[in-house]
Amino acid sequence: MTTRNVIIIGSGPAGLTAALYTARANLQPLVIEGLHAGGQLMLTTTVENFPGYREGIMGPDLMGEMRAQAERFGAEIVRGDVTFVGTRSNPIVVRTSETEYTTKTLIIATGASARLLGLPSELTLMGHGVSTCATCDGYFFRGHEIAVVGGGDSAMEEAVFLTKFASKVTVVHRRDTLRASKIMQDKARANVKIAWLLDSEVEEIQATGKGEVSAMVVRTNKTGARTVVPVSGVFVAIGHTPNTSLFKGQLEMDQNGYLVTHDGVKTSVTGVFACGDVQDHVYRQAITAAGTGCMAALDAERYLEGVPEYQSVSPQSIQPPPATTSSR
Ligand code: NAP
Repeated sequence: MTTRNVIIIGSGPAGLTAALYTARANLQPLVIEGLHAGGQLMLTTTVENFPGYREGIMGPDLMGEMRAQAERFGAEIVRGDVTFVGTRSNPIVVRTSETEYTTKTLIIATGASARLLGLPSELTLMGHGVSTCATCDGYFFRGHEIAVVGGGDSAMEEAVFLTKFASKVTVVHRRDTLRASKIMQDKARANVKIAWLLDSEVEEIQATGKGEVSAMVVRTNKTGARTVVPVSGVFVAIGHTPNTSLFKGQLEMDQNGYLVTHDGVKTSVTGVFACGDVQDHVYRQAITAAGTGCMAALDAERYLEGVPEYQSVSPQSIQPPPATTSSR
């Protein structure tokens, strides 16, 4: 078996941009696309904030374009989910249920998954009123009454942001105290467009005959009473889980399980780079993921060329992974 120059795990905007750049650098990259090929954008409808698409583009179409562009320059994209990675062996080992590969460099673009409530309606209505990204979808709810589920900083941030568009934003949180930091809570509480349903849980999301969100059924925990609240959008903001279980004990992670990167996109192991949402819990945008995918590709290329500063990790990154690598 020949050792590859570069293997990319993940096929969202970060992984496919890394594939495009490494393919154009003649490195014949192999992309292992993962169970959720195309990543989170496959769950959205129109994307209006990716530069270059004046009229917007459907999320799956954007990913189809990125994929075709990478393949045009020779990227090989295979189905499959990686079951094992050995980052500390030389060459690096990557195993799927069917094949074992070896590679000189590894680009990790496994992303993060938005946590969901677990309601069947949530999945069928995703992109049709249910969203996990206010920045992406808020604009579609101008003048509408909508809801945000969650009580953390993300929920507060999204609720405040969404008041720019919506006529009313109802925050639904399962406890009567918020988890969010005081400053974020204060900001949300001061906003007159935000209403609160605390100690309450969304039990169901209802749709119109056309399959668009029309209401949510909210249960008050103390009394068990159920209320149908008319809304045309439900933003689920209950956190994200980075897809990093493969790398536990191998690569440095932060307390929430995100890969820690240094000097751009270098991980704590030489020759292993991480890009996109797996290492970014702040921006989480398709364009920023694509940007870091480009960085990872350029860094992998420089590493393979033997550029000295890419041959070792910076001293602060040589640490054992933290004891707690919970994937909150
Ligand atoms: P988080 O802090 O983990 O909060 C998640 C929220 O969702 C919690 O209120 C939790 O309820 C609720 N939740 C979780 N699972 C649920 C379920 N199954 N049903 C209903 N509710 C559920 O996540 P986050 O808000 O995304 O924040 C993640 C990290 O990023 C935090 O460290 C945060 O401070 C940071 N962040 C910072 C900023 C900022 O400073 N600008 C903005 C966004 C995020 P409970 O409270 O009952 O557990």
